[in-house]
Amino acid sequence: MFTALRSSDTALPLDLVSAIQELKRELNAVVLAHYYQESEIQDVADYIGDSLGLSRQAASTDADVIVFAGVHFMAETAKILNPNKLVLLPDLEAGCSLADSCPPDQFAAFKAVHPDHLVISYVNCTAAIKAMSDIICTSSNAVQIVQQIPAEQPIIFAPDKNLGRYVMAQTGRDLLLWDGSCIVHETFSERKLIDLKVQHPEAEVVAHPECEPTILRHAHFVGSTTALLNYTQQSPKQAFIVATESGILHQMQKQAPGKTYIPAPPTQNCACNECPYMRLNTLEKLYTAMKERSPEITLPEEVRVAALKPMERMLEMSA
Ligand code: SF4
Repeated sequence: MFTALRSSDTALPLDLVSAIQELKRELNAVVLAHYYQESEIQDVADYIGDSLGLSRQAASTDADVIVFAGVHFMAETAKILNPNKLVLLPDLEAGCSLADSCPPDQFAAFKAVHPDHLVISYVNCTAAIKAMSDIICTSSNAVQIVQQIPAEQPIIFAPDKNLGRYVMAQTGRDLLLWDGSCIVHETFSERKLIDLKVQHPEAEVVAHPECEPTILRHAHFVGSTTALLNYTQQSPKQAFIVATESGILHQMQKQAPGKTYIPAPPTQNCACNECPYMRLNTLEKLYTAMKERSPEITLPEEVRVAALKPMERMLEMSA
């Protein structure tokens, strides 16, 4: 029995964490949370991961309900893989500037001008863009996937131009890039990063490939969110300057607590290294979504089927 804290909408229990655990059992639900979620959401999740890890988890779960603590395109991805499961997103407004930077009508026109190109799209895109793609990739497997494509095959890479540039540098391939980017990863200031490196000469810089080349050129290690987490855990170094969304610092601190993690500084004096979309999800909204079984993610079946094919190719090519 729970005591209500407020009278509006769904009443909130005093012990939200216990109530969420109870609802998980009642609904046979699994809570999947991205590393960029606030720490209290990460702590109630059954699985915490980056895009690839969460896609794999969504593909293999036997739960009836998937509660996706992340942004809209991620919950769509879970629905693409699980058409018969109820997929819930705590806040439907949790979008993504990168996904929004690739409107489907403009991308269709771009693709039509380059009919001989294979389309590889980063998973941070809408279901409509996935449905227009040949292969999906994540920041963990983008290099590996591009390397498997015959050298003579021209490739469109969408929507993140920074990840695309990084893949070009790693593979030596010439990719035709869509001009999209993430507001969070474009926020870091090179000048402030250099100042920080001078103040902390003992620290290594680790960066996500969605960052601009001006930041990546200072990085000792570049990798997906999971790769950054593993690197900071396994490295003998004791201090790191971390150039990605600051939510990952919670897991870094949990997995290697004795070390020092310094968030890379944004250009402005702001919390711009926190994704404003990810932070729309709260523990309260997570509870309410489970209690009300809403908001639910739905997709037109023809879009879902078309988007599934390139997702499956990714899972096969990165197995
Ligand atoms: S951090 Fe960037 S890419 Fe990730 S969800 Fe937020 S806006 Fe999108």
